[in-house]
Amino acid sequence: MTLKSNRSLLDIDRDHLIHPVTSFRAHEARGATLLQSGKGMWLTDMDGNQLLDAFAGLWCVNVGYGQDSIVEAAAAQMRQLPYATGYFHFGCETTVRLAQKLADLSPEGLDHVYFTLGGSDAVDSAIRYIIHYFNAIGRPSKKQFIALDRGYHGSSTTGAGLTALSNFHRLFDLPHAWQHHIPSPYPYRSELTDDAAIIARSVQQLKDKVAELGADNVAAFFCEPIQGSGGVIVPPKGWLKALRDTCTELDILFVADEVITGFGRTGPLFACEEEGVTPDLMTLAKGLTAGYAPMGALLMSDKVYQGIANGAAPELAIGHGFTYSGHPVSAAVGLEVLRLYTEGGILANGRSVGRRFAAGLNAIADHPLVGDTRGRGLLGAIELVADKDSKARLDSALKIPDRLFAQGYKNGVIFRSFPDNIIGLAPALCASDEEMDEIFARIRKTLDDLL
Ligand code: PLP
Repeated sequence: MTLKSNRSLLDIDRDHLIHPVTSFRAHEARGATLLQSGKGMWLTDMDGNQLLDAFAGLWCVNVGYGQDSIVEAAAAQMRQLPYATGYFHFGCETTVRLAQKLADLSPEGLDHVYFTLGGSDAVDSAIRYIIHYFNAIGRPSKKQFIALDRGYHGSSTTGAGLTALSNFHRLFDLPHAWQHHIPSPYPYRSELTDDAAIIARSVQQLKDKVAELGADNVAAFFCEPIQGSGGVIVPPKGWLKALRDTCTELDILFVADEVITGFGRTGPLFACEEEGVTPDLMTLAKGLTAGYAPMGALLMSDKVYQGIANGAAPELAIGHGFTYSGHPVSAAVGLEVLRLYTEGGILANGRSVGRRFAAGLNAIADHPLVGDTRGRGLLGAIELVADKDSKARLDSALKIPDRLFAQGYKNGVIFRSFPDNIIGLAPALCASDEEMDEIFARIRKTLDDLL
């Protein structure tokens, strides 16, 4: 084997590293953007460029970069006990304490916590446990799953089918025959202008789908309180509660995927809280460890837990688990991150700077390219259009998403550039008002540069 030591890091990356959700050929042509370090809201890349991160990494670094107390918590745990399996009734105090915290902080009734490595396997675990549950309680026909057509529920073999983005299905033979989608409530693009009518239509669409499949065959409805990767689609207030109540009425489980919206992203600790909603199951990740270590969680109601517990033969282990479920180092990180949100004032700061964020979204709506701005808390979107009145989309031949991202980067701001010319924003909850203003100043300049 010859050592190719003279190659640049970018060449090595091209040759050896497969990047997630990236076209192989486009990556070979473009090369990687390599980041070097981060502090607070700021990133420095390999060329020394300073960038304001308006997307908290991948909607996860909610407490900002460079929080030393998290590093110390992880190091202390690694020194004391770097690993403890959760299998065979083992565990360790740190993981137990984090489970207790999540049960305490989450909506009433979600008392049981299963830890995963991220969001995809939290969704996958939800699907597996739901199937197990209906078999265990003697209702084995309930195996159909419904989600929204702009929903994102990760990238596992099962979850990617509930995810409704076309590139997650194309050439992957998805969705599975037991996975179904109903339209997302998308107020800006709806011909209905009344919130109540938008909510009523969603409710009817769910009822129609369940009637089509047969209520005895439907297991669960999955949704994000605000759809993130589908373009930050914000349903009207009251939508989540209406859909939750409809699931109860239809006797199907309601699963809230709070992987993005959890941990203060929309204001309260969980978006479900805002509407007094208690889901049957809830999936979490991202803000749980704020990107400092991989971890996700599935929260389960007592009803589902007891159904599984009663149906399982006590002598047989329930065959679902990962070597790193409840990893002690990630749990230590999670505990410290939760402390920063609550005692460290980061949630409170997020709520306060959230008002500046809303003002920034409001102000940029006057830009000639902007058709819509929307958001809740520190989760938002700016949708660009060719014509404000007709809401006509910009010609796809203009390749606006790629150009937007590149121009933003040149102007020192990182955001998400979605298809349909939607800018996604999810700045960390630790931002100052001045940093928030600077984010919007840089985005406005980026839009001006595109004109
Ligand atoms: N669910 C939602 C709502 C998400 O936004 C994501 C990731 O963006 C996932 C699930 C999957 O999480 P992960 O990428 O940690 O597997």
